[in-house]
Amino acid sequence: MLQLHSNITLCVVGGFISRPIMPPYKGFVQKGGFLVAVLCYHSVCDAWSSPLAMNSATFSQQCTWLAKRTDTVDLARAVDLMDRRGRLPRGVSTLTFDDGFADNFDTALPAIKRSGLAASIFVVAATLDRGHQVDWVDDPPTFTLETLTRDQIQSMDAEGIDIGSHSLFHKDLTTLTYEECVEDLTTSRLILEEILSKPVPYLAYPRGLWNETVAKAAQAAGYSGAFSLPVGPEPVGAFSMPRIGIWRDNGPREFWLKNTRSYQSVRTSRLYQLVGR
Ligand SMILES: [Zn+2]
Repeated sequence: MLQLHSNITLCVVGGFISRPIMPPYKGFVQKGGFLVAVLCYHSVCDAWSSPLAMNSATFSQQCTWLAKRTDTVDLARAVDLMDRRGRLPRGVSTLTFDDGFADNFDTALPAIKRSGLAASIFVVAATLDRGHQVDWVDDPPTFTLETLTRDQIQSMDAEGIDIGSHSLFHKDLTTLTYEECVEDLTTSRLILEEILSKPVPYLAYPRGLWNETVAKAAQAAGYSGAFSLPVGPEPVGAFSMPRIGIWRDNGPREFWLKNTRSYQSVRTSRLYQLVGR
């Protein structure tokens, strides 16, 4: 049951968040309070300095923070609860991870389990059955980026982690024809469903990139919904559900801001695009 709580004030003046009144992490809001977001992570790895890779201690701290302040829900429940602007009710959270890096199992999962949070991982299916290597990151580390194995995603599925598709090869789907897109997304879904022996209803677009053709292809490929990662104004719908990216350089205050109800609206507004960069 959700508890509404409002002992915190956010200064929103003319559509801008001027500054949070209370410091992050320090007991400023009770569970069920002023939070809302579908969060998007990638890697949790200390040795990789990419924005995609969260420091493990920071990630663990964020999990603890969310667990104290939110009721965590799985992806299907989050979709049910989402409003027309793609926001969750106050005090509800769910974590998602894109790309299926092996550190999601080795490093992120223990912190998620310790905190009792719900999480979903969107996997690049060709890494599981075709030996496809990570070739899609802009700033790879000097070491090889390992991806999750079939055994690991089966194990996480058994522990309640939702597994979704992040396409077959992590191509920019907007560069594919409709037919190519349907083929890619159908194949990736079938690979995952064969491994998990259950339906895989959700997709996260690689890099969050989509257009109307991609959304129609995702629907034709048999998904119930798809997640984006908007940094500007985008339509919101069942096949364009927004998430908020959490990056390595996000400090406690920025993490808190990203979990406020206004952040998503402000960050993706036209006004922010004009003056907020
Ligand atoms: Zn990705």
